[in-house]
Amino acid sequence: MVMFLTDSHAHIDYDSYDTDRDEMLGRAQSTGVQRILNIALGPESEKFEKAFSLFELSKDISIAVGVHPHDAGKMDEDAYNKFKAYAARSGVSALGEIGLDYYYENSPREAQVKWFGRFLDLALELKLPVTIHSRDAFDDTYEAVSKRDIFRKVGGVLHCFTGTAEEAKKFLDLGAYISFSGIITFKKAEELRQTAKSVPIEKMLIETDAPFLTPDPYRGKRNEPAYVLRVAETIAALKGLSVEEVAKITSENAARLFRF
Ligand SMILES: [Zn+2]
Ligand SMILES: [Zn+2]
Repeated sequence: MVMFLTDSHAHIDYDSYDTDRDEMLGRAQSTGVQRILNIALGPESEKFEKAFSLFELSKDISIAVGVHPHDAGKMDEDAYNKFKAYAARSGVSALGEIGLDYYYENSPREAQVKWFGRFLDLALELKLPVTIHSRDAFDDTYEAVSKRDIFRKVGGVLHCFTGTAEEAKKFLDLGAYISFSGIITFKKAEELRQTAKSVPIEKMLIETDAPFLTPDPYRGKRNEPAYVLRVAETIAALKGLSVEEVAKITSENAARLFRF
């Protein structure tokens, strides 16, 4: 069976790849990564412009546009209108990442909640699926997504999921996909592996979140999409499936959600 991996969440427009982006993409390809969703983050226009200029014409790399909850404090109406114009461009596969991060709380909670709500409403308006970042913010995330029925209306994924099996179940019941990153390979992540075991493979995505969260045994190095194989291997061991099966099913899930 040919390997068909999808890295459903990576930031490969980041400056850290500027010197070797083609080599990095070559390594992804030779590992079997046939599709990458690049998460372009603003709100600065230059950042969106860079992502579009790099990947707009690529058939193997799709683009999502978002504003990380860390940067919610930078948002205003002017930034929102610019953001909306990027999100509405043809070829954009998803809105995100958007969400809430109360662990770092780099932006005030009120600003995070306000803009997360505005972005979810925009996803409904543009009929785009969402990729959601939620850290130490289960209750507020759940409220925002459930009251809009966002997963049933446009589809969406909790990216880099680090919650409990119970929390995963609550999102799954709303129709969400759950995505696991390289964190699942970490020695101390036994509880997260149990969570992953509880999530049906048909509702699971895999990702690197590169350049962050490098999986074992590459920790300490810059992360890159080729290492999504380590996530697939870990899921395969947990589920008693072959790596090829995990790759194929999670790729089909991503294609269904993001309409690749
Ligand atoms: Zn994130
Ligand atoms: Zn990310």
